[in-house]
Amino acid sequence: MSGKCRLCGDLEDRHEAVQTRRQWEPDTFLPKAVEKLETVKRGLRLRGPRSSDLRRCPECLTFYLYSIDWEQAADGMSYDQQVLRRLTDEEGQRYLRS
Ligand SMILES: [Zn+2]
Repeated sequence: MSGKCRLCGDLEDRHEAVQTRRQWEPDTFLPKAVEKLETVKRGLRLRGPRSSDLRRCPECLTFYLYSIDWEQAADGMSYDQQVLRRLTDEEGQRYLRS
C-alpha cells in the first residue's frame, strides 16, 4: 500500500497491553512503534485512565492518545494497563488546546 507511514503505518486504531505479573496470565506489551511517537502534551485529564499523553507521529503527524492505568490490589496483585488510540486530526487538535 502506498502512502503508508513507515513509522506508524503498522499500528492498529487501538492497541491495549496489560501486565499483571500473574504467572497464569501472560503479560502483553504495546508494539515497538509506539516508542517512536513524540509526546506533544503530557498529563491530559480525562475520565477513566489515571494518566494520558497526547502523542504524535513525527513522520506523518497523526495524533495518538496514550493512556496508562494501574491498580495495586490488597492481595499484592498489581495491574498495569497501557492503551494507545489513534485520533482524528480534529480530536488531536482539541486535546492540544485543552
Ligand atoms: Zn506516522
